[in-house]
Amino acid sequence: MQMISLKTPIPGPKSQALLARRKAAVPQGPFNIAPIFVERGEGATVIDVDGNVFLDFSGGLGSLNAGHANPKVVEAVTAQARKYLHTCFHIAQYEPYVALAEKLNAITPGKFVKKTLLLNSGAEAIENAVKIARYYTKRSAVIGFEHGFTGRTLLTMTLTSKVMPYKFGFGPFAPEVYRLPYPYTYRSELDENGMIEQMHEFFHTHVDPKQVACVVMELILGEGGFVVAPKAYVQALAKFCKENGILFVADEIQSGFARTGRMFAAEHYDFEPELITMAKSLAGGMPLSAVTGRAEIMDSVHVGGLGGTYGGNPVACAAALATIGEMERMNLPARAEKIGEILRNRALAWQKKHPLIGDVRGLGAMVAIEFVKDRQTKEPAKEFTVKLVQSCVENGVILIYAGTHSNALRYLVPLIITDEQLDEGLDVIEKQLFA
Ligand SMILES: *Cc1c(COP(=O)(O)O)cnc(C)c1O
Repeated sequence: MQMISLKTPIPGPKSQALLARRKAAVPQGPFNIAPIFVERGEGATVIDVDGNVFLDFSGGLGSLNAGHANPKVVEAVTAQARKYLHTCFHIAQYEPYVALAEKLNAITPGKFVKKTLLLNSGAEAIENAVKIARYYTKRSAVIGFEHGFTGRTLLTMTLTSKVMPYKFGFGPFAPEVYRLPYPYTYRSELDENGMIEQMHEFFHTHVDPKQVACVVMELILGEGGFVVAPKAYVQALAKFCKENGILFVADEIQSGFARTGRMFAAEHYDFEPELITMAKSLAGGMPLSAVTGRAEIMDSVHVGGLGGTYGGNPVACAAALATIGEMERMNLPARAEKIGEILRNRALAWQKKHPLIGDVRGLGAMVAIEFVKDRQTKEPAKEFTVKLVQSCVENGVILIYAGTHSNALRYLVPLIITDEQLDEGLDVIEKQLFA
């Protein structure tokens, strides 16, 4: 098991040379958290081209719940790659697609018959969930949430609510998208009941419920800063949706696959979303996404209405089957619960001594710390948070921030991280936090 080991200042000379090439050849649009180039990934660590070993507390932006280069996943990918890389599922079918659909139908919440469509990215999964919901309901309106993030394609960028950097300058946006306030208790004057009332009022002031095809909700905001929706709110919204023929799409792209202490966040809410979108940790780092839902809804679309050239690529399917197998074998949901406890206890101890820590929150290992300039005014402390992330990277821990105002530190540690690695990483963060 590797621990942090820094041999050069960060970035080292080899990373610096690659950074210069990157700058000349790649547009600045794609942002970068760590100014390093990777040589190897292993478990919860990343080794850069200068031989520096980092602890990765961002897990490939939540895609590596089962760890970097998980040996079982690598084995499955290699074995599949030797047989065939691609046929296009529309042209010649293959078993891994069907096997993964069967698996996702079985492990997602909802005690009804389900079917699964496979795609390439999270945004594409949301796009397809909305297409299916519109087709099935014959309605056009879609509801998203403030502070929500659904992706960067036209529709998903429209649904996304953070202007800078996701929407700024990219309009016009897609029509028939409405946005509910997120039940963000830390930043709301309303209590749970007030928020539920506000949600009902929304259907009088913004859109007729009979025009709404679906609501797309992250039960725990990902990019929005790991805000956990109250159970009563989600159940009230789900009930309203059911009564009005609106489909509930649970966006589990970041919260899914063991992160919250359950395989899916929806399991914490005792409800059954009609459709679930998945991506990120689904395939251990390979590009793959899925929409799983009630069979009757999934099957409503005509033949040829859904798909894509690479959707459900066989190598990605093999990776996903192995990744889910590893999650089950190692009981990663239980491990996430334990990791979450360690992260939360440490953060709560910091909060007692650190005036800028406004809120500590999360579910399972999906834990975030929100920084504010003043606990009374709750003014977001963005510069502080961004600087903290940078100094942690320079000291061997790759971290990422979140939140509409980029003032929350979010943990997306691979769930195979050891207690020793976790402690070492938290020691680095603590030192930078109180520096
Ligand atoms: C990352 C993310 C998306 C978009 O996924 P991409 O693969 O980047 O398109 C959508 N929803 C949530 C909750 C996400 O975290």
